[in-house]
Amino acid sequence: MAEVVQFQILPEQVDDLALIHAKIKSELALTHDDFTFEWRKRSIDARKKIIKLNCSFIVYLKDEASVFTPFFTPQNVADKKRIAIIGAGPAGLFAALRCLEVGLCPVVFERGKDVRSRRRDLAELNKKSIVNPESNYCFGEGGAGTYSDGKLYTRSKKRGDVEKTLKLFVEFGADKDILVDAHPHIGTNKLPQIIVGMREFIVANGGEVHFESKLTDIKLQENAISAIEINHSNWFEFDRVILATGHSARDIFELLHTRGIKVDAKPFALGVRIEHTQELIDTIQYHGRLNDSFIPPASYSLVAQVDGRGVYSFCMCPGGIVAPCATAQEEVVTNGWSPSKRNNIYSNSGIVVSVDPSDFPGKENDPFVCLDFQKSIEKKAWEMAGKTQKVPAQRLVDFVQKKKSIDFPRSSYQPGIVSVEMDSIFPPFIANRLRKAFVEFDKKMNGFLTNDAVLHAPESRTSSPILIPRNPETMEHVSTKGLFPCAEGAGYAGGIVSAAIDGMNCVDAIITSFQKEA
Ligand SMILES: Cc1cc2nc3c(=O)[nH]c(=O)nc-3n(C[C@H](O)[C@H](O)[C@H](O)COP(=O)(O)OP(=O)(O)OC[C@H]3O[C@@H](n4cnc5c(N)ncnc54)[C@H](O)[C@@H]3O)c2cc1C
Repeated sequence: MAEVVQFQILPEQVDDLALIHAKIKSELALTHDDFTFEWRKRSIDARKKIIKLNCSFIVYLKDEASVFTPFFTPQNVADKKRIAIIGAGPAGLFAALRCLEVGLCPVVFERGKDVRSRRRDLAELNKKSIVNPESNYCFGEGGAGTYSDGKLYTRSKKRGDVEKTLKLFVEFGADKDILVDAHPHIGTNKLPQIIVGMREFIVANGGEVHFESKLTDIKLQENAISAIEINHSNWFEFDRVILATGHSARDIFELLHTRGIKVDAKPFALGVRIEHTQELIDTIQYHGRLNDSFIPPASYSLVAQVDGRGVYSFCMCPGGIVAPCATAQEEVVTNGWSPSKRNNIYSNSGIVVSVDPSDFPGKENDPFVCLDFQKSIEKKAWEMAGKTQKVPAQRLVDFVQKKKSIDFPRSSYQPGIVSVEMDSIFPPFIANRLRKAFVEFDKKMNGFLTNDAVLHAPESRTSSPILIPRNPETMEHVSTKGLFPCAEGAGYAGGIVSAAIDGMNCVDAIITSFQKEA
């Protein structure tokens, strides 16, 4: 029987196989050397001054060996039942991969461009402040996850097979370390190639992927989906549609509402993206241990309850860049990404306050109430920063003390920053909670509250402000047969891994719906 063994070593001992072998032998009280082992999990423990590496190994005794069981076997699906998948983000791509496994033909329609062409639009956005509404940090092949930090951890392990998702990433080129690191991440420089690999595989096995192909209308017959319109011109008949369009496809929310397909307001979160130097975060988290190649750039995860509501860090990017993530010209939106080595001199994170439909008395039942608020903040930020993609910015202590910043340290945000008081963008229920939370965060991470940190605003696309409600049993829309609202845009996932899992689960739900029909 394979055994699991756990212990701690120093980070610099990670490659010392003789030491690890001896430790395993001692932990299991073995009297012989007749065993092999492989990594199961590892994580940094920086709670005390001497930093340790938590290690977990699977140990195979005597003649046992790691048993290889294939976890993914595709079929050629060219002549199989066709399923429309709208959106080629993690949800859409993993749904397509699952189709290959279960014998359905995925037909993916993506409004944006392929990964390589998309890169040119990102350059225009960063250098000339030109937002292409169809090709940007949120739209295009790979979705919002492509030019991201590629963090692959999820708190929602109940939703499905995290390990399978990670193994598929490895299958398409991600480093095997993601299978053992407690906080795996891939990095912006590596993700595009992985995404291209997935698409080529889908096509090679009989699936289809169409770029610059936007869903623009839906035809219903007796509350069941019967056809979809692409690019305002071509209609295609489908009776099963996975709608995986992400949290930024506002035109999709409007389309559904116009066609009488129920959408609801959903709580989300909104705030700022804070940037410190990575050196400061390492100093705080690693007790002054710096420039050490054996320990990764430090991260943090902060949460505080302020006036009865959660304020928390979101999508923290060690060694990262603050990115312009607008999907339309007249708005400013921030997010963050990191390269695989996380070796940039900055660290950034969203710091956000929960927003609820009840924050807008009298409008609680308006499905668009949270979306309208999100839009209004993004538009105000654009106006306040001079109607370009420059971002409103304020030093952290200046914000806490309600002072306008007169100068700034360098920021990683490429289009540029403009001094704006955050209080002129956010209503008091957001700004005051952020202010109090920063003071709380400094108690947990002494030195976090520094005037060398810069706030960029807003961080507003944390999750969807709209729910596209589905039947929890069948995963179909509550009132529209054949429509499977999927992942982040529908309000059922948050992050790359949970979106990918939801995509795969939707395909399984479609299989069940066919079986019921038969
Ligand atoms: C800069 C950045 C960094 C991030 N970093 C991380 C991270 O490190 N880890 C993490 O877990 N998450 C991260 N995220 C969030 C993560 O990317 C999303 O949670 C995830 O991509 C959601 O997957 P999805 O498939 O549901 O939607 P999306 O990835 O948003 O994909 C939706 C796709 O649908 C397409 N689409 C929209 N409308 C239409 C239409 N009408 N017709 C056809 N296609 C359409 C879009 O172009 C897009 O490609 C980051 C996001 C950003 C923007």
